[in-house]
Amino acid sequence: MHDKSIRVHSDEVAKATKAALLRRGVTKEDIAEIVYEMQNPYNDGLTLEHCVHSVERVLRKREVQHAVLVGIELDELAEKKLLSAPLQQIIESDEGLFGVDETIALGSVFTYGSIAVTTFGHLDKQKIGIIKKLDTEPGLHVNTFLDDLVASIAASAASRIAHRMRDLEEEGVTFADIEPEELGPKQKPHNEI
Ligand code: MG
Repeated sequence: MHDKSIRVHSDEVAKATKAALLRRGVTKEDIAEIVYEMQNPYNDGLTLEHCVHSVERVLRKREVQHAVLVGIELDELAEKKLLSAPLQQIIESDEGLFGVDETIALGSVFTYGSIAVTTFGHLDKQKIGIIKKLDTEPGLHVNTFLDDLVASIAASAASRIAHRMRDLEEEGVTFADIEPEELGPKQKPHNEI
């Protein structure tokens, strides 16, 4: 069914994505800290603010928003025990061979190229920062999809910075010379890299 009259506005999707992450205890600063850790060794003058800005840009991407909304919805339904068997048990127990959590997250990093893909693979293995916390969070929380989604956003934001650094090098400057908001063209939401 392709009924344009019930199509959701992009702003609403963007808002829902941010709200979903916050509801699950993940801030853009949490994700930016991972980005900073990954990219700081290679980028003179890089600050956490630059990384926050990059995370914000990634979160404007429709593909990323859709992945986040699907994944978090499934985590929350599993947490409320609203899925049907055997999917309920598979997601609730974070079954090691399930793999759909990684697949959805990986799908949203492809736009950001090979650096994003390899960084995602690295973060999937070496869970750092909030990813580690989500992966090991005890108790009633189900974060089966969330840890991979956070890794994918961080990987994409890190890739953006790596590519931006080359541009800056060619312009003869470093991150130390630019403000976070100068990192890319403004107001091209939902479709630009
Ligand atoms: Mg997972």
